[in-house]
Amino acid sequence: MSDKPEKFIDENGLRLDGRRVDEIRPMTVEMGVLSRADGSCYLEWGNNKVLAAVYGPRELHPRRLQRPSEALVRYRYNMAAFSVEDRIRPGPSRRSTEISKVSGEAFEPVVMKQFYPGAVIDVFAEVLQADAGTRTAAINAATLALVDAGIPMKGLVASCAVGKVDGQLVLDLNKPEDNYGDADLPIAMTEDGEITLLQMDGNLTADEIAKGIEMVRKGCEQIFAIQKEALLSKFGTADEEEILKEAELQAEVATSEDESEDVEVISETVSEAEIQAEDDELEAEDEDEDIELQDEAEAFTDDEVGDASDEAEDLFGEDVSEFEITENAESEDDSSSEPEGAESDEDEGEKNE
Ligand code: ADP
Repeated sequence: MSDKPEKFIDENGLRLDGRRVDEIRPMTVEMGVLSRADGSCYLEWGNNKVLAAVYGPRELHPRRLQRPSEALVRYRYNMAAFSVEDRIRPGPSRRSTEISKVSGEAFEPVVMKQFYPGAVIDVFAEVLQADAGTRTAAINAATLALVDAGIPMKGLVASCAVGKVDGQLVLDLNKPEDNYGDADLPIAMTEDGEITLLQMDGNLTADEIAKGIEMVRKGCEQIFAIQKEALLSKFGTADEEEILKEAELQAEVATSEDESEDVEVISETVSEAEIQAEDDELEAEDEDEDIELQDEAEAFTDDEVGDASDEAEDLFGEDVSEFEITENAESEDDSSSEPEGAESDEDEGEKNE
C-alpha cells in the first residue's frame, strides 16, 4: 500500500488524479452483458470494475420468507478475492453484510415491490476490481441491471461519495483520498433527490455535511445522465429528431381522436334533437286528438251525456258520469296539453273496476 501523500490538492486546485474537487471519475456502463441473468450491467468508474446481475421476480424459497403483499428485494454485495492488492478471503464478511443491507435499502422507494407479492428479486453486485467507492459503483450498476431486468421502478438511483482532504471537500474519493482522508460520506439518492443511503466515516461539521450533500447531488445528476444514455443506447432506437417526430405524430393522433369524439357527441346531440322533435310532433298530434275529442265531447248535449252514462252504467254496473264529466273538465282547462292518456286510462281502469 502506498504511503500517505503530503498533499492531496495542488496549488491549481487539482487532485492527485488531476480532477477538480467537484469532479467525478470517468464512468462507462454496458447493459445486458450476462445472458443468464434477467438483467445485468457492467460498470467501470475510474479503476473500479463492477458487475451487477438481477434475477427475478421469481418465487421465493423457503416460502416462510415470502412477503404476502410485496416482493422481497435481496441485495448481495461481494468483493472478488482478486479485486484488491491483497487477496480477500472469499465469503461474506461483516463489511460486505453491512454494505449489502444498506445498499438494498437504497432501492426501497423506487422498486415497485407491490406488483410481485411472494416473489424475490435478487440483486448481485460483484466487485471485480476495487479502487475506493465500490459500494457507490455497485449501486449505480445495480440500478441499470434492475431496469434491464424489466423491474417496474419509479425512477433511477444514483450514488456517489464526498469526502475531505487537506481541509477541503472532494467529490467521489479516489483510493488515497479514501484511505488517508479526513472523512468519507457515501450517499445514494433518487432522481427526486430523496436520499436513500447515507453513511459516514471520519469527521465533518454540519455545514460540511450540508455542502457535501449538495456536491453529491450534482455528481448524481451527472450519473443519472450517464445511466439514461446507457438506457437510450440499449432500448432507444430513435435519435432525438425521430423522438420529436414521434411525439408530434402522437399529438396529431390525440387531436384527431378528440375531434372524432366531438363528431360523435354532435351526432348524439343531433339524434337526441331529432327524437325530441319527433316527441314534440307526437305530442302535438295527441294535442290535436285531445282537442278533437274535446270538441266531440263538447258536441254532446247534457242529455246525450246522461244517456251515455246510463248505457255505461248498464254495461259496468257503476255510475261513470262523474268520471266523464271530470275528464272533460280536465281537457278543457289543461292548456299545457300534456298527453296523460296512460294516467287517465289507469284512472279510468281503477274507477271502472
Ligand atoms: P468503498 O469501496 O465503498 O469505498 P470502503 O471505504 O470500505 O468501501 O473501502 C475503500 C477501499 O478500500 C475499497 O474500495 C477497496 O479498494 C479497499 N478495501 C476495502 N476492503 C478491503 C479489504 N478487505 N482488503 C483490501 N482492500 C480493501
